[in-house]
Amino acid sequence: MKEMIKLAPVFKTMVWGGNRMRDYFGYEIPGENTGEAWVVSAHPQGDCLISEGRFAGKSLSWLWKNHRELFGNIEGEEFPLLVKFIDAREDLSIQVHPDDEYARVHENGARGKTECWYILDCEAEADIIVGHQAKSKEEMKQWMEENRWEDFLKVRPIRPGDFFQIPPGTVHAIRKGTLLIEIQQNSAITYRMYDYGRMPGGKLRELHIKQALDVVQCPHEDYAGKKQISHENGYDKTFLVSCPFYTVEKYDIWGTVMLEQKQPFLIVSVIDGEGMIDENPVKKGTCLILPDGYGTVCIKGELSLMAAHI
Ligand code: ZN
Repeated sequence: MKEMIKLAPVFKTMVWGGNRMRDYFGYEIPGENTGEAWVVSAHPQGDCLISEGRFAGKSLSWLWKNHRELFGNIEGEEFPLLVKFIDAREDLSIQVHPDDEYARVHENGARGKTECWYILDCEAEADIIVGHQAKSKEEMKQWMEENRWEDFLKVRPIRPGDFFQIPPGTVHAIRKGTLLIEIQQNSAITYRMYDYGRMPGGKLRELHIKQALDVVQCPHEDYAGKKQISHENGYDKTFLVSCPFYTVEKYDIWGTVMLEQKQPFLIVSVIDGEGMIDENPVKKGTCLILPDGYGTVCIKGELSLMAAHI
């Protein structure tokens, strides 16, 4: 049976969050500090509910446990990916993630985290932090102790359409005025290095300097992958990244396009425009999963979508 899995987002209130997702996606956000919408997630801290169809009301983690055939019977305790929209009204803390091996040993068997960002919208002067400029861990430690964050961090100007792959060990932070989509391993292990001395709720948030020093790649090396655009009949396909955890491509579609869903499952997030995916109306902010064996999918309209698979 050919049924797509439509999911309802889980919203996260964050000190740095804003209210842009209300107008941008038409979401009913819970407040003016909505930092994240977890749109495809089976994580215990935000397990999306299926919004329509025969599994309506069940969670994605339930579906993963009980209907693995929808995901090509692939192995694994947990659903492997997590997709979020992030609206940063303020700067996020500077952080770094461990890889699978470090997380397994030091975080009770948890997963590491590789993530990637595609900038949907940002203010004219917006920037982002990816990487650092220390030549050794000694230098890094010294700069951190001396609060020389401007020497240490690699700040890059951004524009809508920019893409960043963030492998484990990469120092990174989203900064104010940025709206993006994040596709990542299903993990919440984050080591916070610096929080601008902020005191949300009257106290400093915990830092994890030791773990951060353990896992940071030093010296930093920029991710070498490049975007590749192919112009097809009725659509452009932009290859963004392929790594051991996920492959991400962007489709810009005008008119009617037939595509084959050949993956164990395909996560589709509409990031612009509107149209139809088979008989389902979709618009900016709609996120769904095309399960195993879905076959040919007909996409109609003027829309852009991110397609992610393992
Ligand atoms: Zn991160």
